[in-house]
Amino acid sequence: MFSELAAIDEHFPWFFTTLSFIFGAIVGSFLNVCIYRIPTEKSIVSPSSRCACGSPIAWYDNIPILSWFVLRGRARCCGRPFSIRYPFVEFLTGVLFLLCWIYFPPAKALCGWVFVSILVSSTFIDLDHMIIPDRFTIGAAVAGLILSFFIPSLHGQGGDMILVDNLRSFILSSIGLMIGSATVLWIALISEIILRKETMGFGDVKFMGAIGAFTGWEGSLFAIFGGAIIGTAGLILFLIVRPFIRAKPDDESGLFGRAVPFGPMLALGGLIYFLFLHEQIDAYFLENAQMLFGSE
Ligand SMILES: [Zn+2]
Repeated sequence: MFSELAAIDEHFPWFFTTLSFIFGAIVGSFLNVCIYRIPTEKSIVSPSSRCACGSPIAWYDNIPILSWFVLRGRARCCGRPFSIRYPFVEFLTGVLFLLCWIYFPPAKALCGWVFVSILVSSTFIDLDHMIIPDRFTIGAAVAGLILSFFIPSLHGQGGDMILVDNLRSFILSSIGLMIGSATVLWIALISEIILRKETMGFGDVKFMGAIGAFTGWEGSLFAIFGGAIIGTAGLILFLIVRPFIRAKPDDESGLFGRAVPFGPMLALGGLIYFLFLHEQIDAYFLENAQMLFGSE
């Protein structure tokens, strides 16, 4: 079975690549449902997709990315406008799934799919509500720990030493979780003393733990500090592309209404580390550790 799949991949390299994008777009469509329903404690499986007017949405009007353009952003039943954010989330998830597939071996790509799904949904929930629900962040952290144990390549462990590599990967994941959470917690405490107002919430502490469980401690630190720098630059961009990320363009609450959402910045930092910069960042930390501690 695996050798046949490998043969397909060898002869038609575009096949699984295209498939990973399509699969990502379908998952993105499901993430739209999660983003909408999880914060309001609604079930994510039932009822099936419905328009705000109550009419069920037919499957052919619910095809990721395409349906929005076919229907020109309006519901077939009542003409209600749908935000361009829905196809945007589907397209974004598709692209991120594709990048995971291209950059990583299949087992790690699978972890990457779970990771980017968590990042995308948390980001948009945070932008809408300025909060990421507990069961979501804690669930994501547990998922990161479990995946790390079963797929040691997630933390660069070879996997040829059964159980030893699994435990190493699990420990690296736990350290990432602890360092990520603790760093955000102390930044929050110190900035609260200095600025006399709440900056990062306890939700960010848990969310950063979840990111660290997938990236390890190097990724945790990059997500926090790199994320803050990239995020500030991104904030300016957000103002420009605002109609694309807001479900309700006229709603002024949420984003920038009360405070800056840190979740999306942490997510962006974690994503950049995971997909593009992990080798460079790890090498940077190793070099500095040698400078500080004189270890070889
Ligand atoms: Zn309708």
